[in-house]
Amino acid sequence: MVQTYLIVISGPSGVGKATLTHELLNRRSDLVLSVSATTRNPRPGEKNGRDYWFLSKEEFEQRIKENYFVEWALVHGNYYGTPEPPIRQQLKQGKNVILEIDVQGGCNVKKIFRDQSILFFILPPVFEELFNRLKKRGSETLEEIEHRLQTAHLELLRQDEYDYTIINDDIERAVFQLMDILDRRLSNSHGKKSEH
Ligand code: 5GP
Repeated sequence: MVQTYLIVISGPSGVGKATLTHELLNRRSDLVLSVSATTRNPRPGEKNGRDYWFLSKEEFEQRIKENYFVEWALVHGNYYGTPEPPIRQQLKQGKNVILEIDVQGGCNVKKIFRDQSILFFILPPVFEELFNRLKKRGSETLEEIEHRLQTAHLELLRQDEYDYTIINDDIERAVFQLMDILDRRLSNSHGKKSEH
């Protein structure tokens, strides 16, 4: 049987996790994305079931009681969690599952899945640049941006618990590094899409 993995991508808000994840999904056919559940409001353009499962606080808390999540955390005042049944099924079907989650979640995944997890911590080249990126994105108020930057500083303290640190100074280079590690770690490049 093929060994499959949970691949965790963490790092501060605005560092480019979504773009990197998207690039990885384009390049390896054996990767799928875990859709998390959250109680935060959808941003413009976000779709239920594609970007997140958007739940009420009551629904989320009910699922915590039912042990529906592999891990869950309070991030910036909202609940976020990784649903367990889909990822167990995908791993069984020979897929490697990408989780774009915060550092609390990543460390909990490591505790449960140990050698079956590969953790990547994504860093900006210069920390101050995050502020500009978040401001440009325009989906948070200045107060929310402040809060996210404070969280980012706290998360940095736990980067040693991650397997790899990637600096996203150039998207192509960061993708290349990630792919290189994944090609070595995931069953002999099985699943790599051919390039035309
Ligand atoms: P955003 O609201 O910007 O989409 O996400 C905020 C933070 O929550 C990000 O750091 C993101 O990685 C994290 N996050 C998203 N889904 C999950 C999840 O299922 N579990 C945990 N622990 N964090 C998550």
